[in-house]
Amino acid sequence: MQVSLISHTPNPEKIIAAAARLCYSDTEADELLVNISEEKANQLVNMLDGFGHESPVEHVTFTFSISGVSRSLLAQITRHRLASFSVQSQRYVKQDKFIYITPPAISQNPEANEIYQKAMQNSIDTYNELADKLQSKYYPEFLSQGLSEKSARSKSEKKAIEDARYVLPNACETKMLMTMNVRSLRNFFRLRCCNRAQWEIRDLATEMLKLCYNVSPILFKSAGPSCCCGACSEGKMTCGQAESVRKKFGEIKNDR
Ligand SMILES: Cc1cc2nc3c(=O)[nH]c(=O)nc-3n(C[C@H](O)[C@H](O)[C@H](O)COP(=O)(O)OP(=O)(O)OC[C@H]3O[C@@H](n4cnc5c(N)ncnc54)[C@H](O)[C@@H]3O)c2cc1C
Repeated sequence: MQVSLISHTPNPEKIIAAAARLCYSDTEADELLVNISEEKANQLVNMLDGFGHESPVEHVTFTFSISGVSRSLLAQITRHRLASFSVQSQRYVKQDKFIYITPPAISQNPEANEIYQKAMQNSIDTYNELADKLQSKYYPEFLSQGLSEKSARSKSEKKAIEDARYVLPNACETKMLMTMNVRSLRNFFRLRCCNRAQWEIRDLATEMLKLCYNVSPILFKSAGPSCCCGACSEGKMTCGQAESVRKKFGEIKNDR
């Protein structure tokens, strides 16, 4: 898994502080922004935390480049509606290299691993077979419509792989660009850094939290699963390991 923070709103604390001040002032936001000191901005951001007045933090966004993750993870992460995604298309990009993710519990179990690798090989063989079959039907059709050989080859491949991909597994690797605002990120970290989330999205969320915390410890000081800053919110589904989770996220934040 590779994740990097490729961009974020500059001066995040100042933007949020200006947004918060604007609500109670007759001055324009751009003027407030110029006149606000770093210290005052940090104070205001800290104060907002206890208020439930969350719209100011929506003005700050973080953009991540994410790759080496599975389509299973993609299904989970795209459930977060308050985010923007651009995802590599299986419709337009042929799976020539067929990179796939192997869950650690499978790779560490030789018998399970053998079954898994066999299933992956079957998938890619079937994909290639279907793609070839469909392409050899479409290619002459495109030629007969007057397309050049080059265009017919390219068009028929695209048309073939968009249906052949139906046999590809959830394990397939994908890449995406994702942007979230701070309010949405805090919600994401609460749900996905939690032990109840699956290992892959939990690992990703934890890496993203580290990157965000490095930019702004103030904005993300309470970020993480609910038990990081209070009681576990998972009720009967609790993992029962709040103490060790608190320690883990405490260390991550102290490590900075
Ligand atoms: C451990 C775990 C298990 C899960 N299991 C399943 C499962 O079995 N099946 C399944 O379908 N999903 C499952 N999910 C996905 C989950 O239900 C959410 O869809 C996902 O976590 C996105 O969370 P969200 O809605 O808070 O985020 P976002 O979509 O980013 O929304 C952020 C917040 O905006 C508000 N909001 C957004 N849209 C609406 C709306 N339409 N109405 C009212 N408020 C809104 C809510 O306050 C929400 O928390 C699971 C998630 C987790 C963490």
